[in-house]
Amino acid sequence: MKDILIGGLKEMGLTPPEGAVDKLCQYAQLLLEQNQVMNLTAITDPTDVARLHFLDSAAILTWQDPKTGRSGLQGKSAVDVGTGAGFPGMVLKILEPSLSLTLVDSLGKRVTWLEKVCEELSLDGVRCFHGRAEELALEKDFRDGFDVAVSRAVASFPLLCELCLPYVRPGGVFLAMKSVESTAETDGGAEAVKRLGGKALPYFDYPIPGADVTHRLVPVEKVAPTPKGLPRSWGKIKKTPL
Ligand code: SAH
Repeated sequence: MKDILIGGLKEMGLTPPEGAVDKLCQYAQLLLEQNQVMNLTAITDPTDVARLHFLDSAAILTWQDPKTGRSGLQGKSAVDVGTGAGFPGMVLKILEPSLSLTLVDSLGKRVTWLEKVCEELSLDGVRCFHGRAEELALEKDFRDGFDVAVSRAVASFPLLCELCLPYVRPGGVFLAMKSVESTAETDGGAEAVKRLGGKALPYFDYPIPGADVTHRLVPVEKVAPTPKGLPRSWGKIKKTPL
């Protein structure tokens, strides 16, 4: 696993900080151990964990903001909505320790496990919240409060926008992790993006080193504060997408 990570990160043009690769290996071990007693991941082969969880998550750090021409999350605040076993959030924090990270998931058991992992890996500056994304986003500290929101494998794009964009401060960005087959799905979210104060930015397709797949980041810039009344309850989000 270590070699795959070192080689893969290098191929992606990323230089991990001292000790980060060892931390990722330790995280993988904790994940696979706990996965025996709790449903955390369907991917259990260590090579696949390295590529499809870790390198995939790390790709966020290679995205270049067209406004600034810069990539990376140095010194930024980010929320990972529906983080599950910590993807992509935990990987980003390990590779960019200056990131101030908030993890949100509606499944309490996963959040409790993530808190323990943060302790074991001595990660500072990570807050873990058990709750529904659309409810937490109504709270003052969360609403329009983050530089970046990220999310992978949580909901279809229009629904995901309502769960995630409310967290982003104007000027910040929401990065949705999607497949390259998601074009129709993301096109269908144009109205949601607009209503939530967002503006679509060009897709970023990236290959995952060593895996025969290309994945996609769908970036949305936040250009205006979240309008009153949004996000709605999950029932409404699902029944009548924006
Ligand atoms: N992002 C992780 C997990 C994906 S599974 C990964 O890519 O591996 C989807 C996760 O989203 C689950 O852990 C589920 O509990 C959480 N989730 C789904 N809807 C949510 C909501 N409305 N608010 C918070 N968490 C949610």
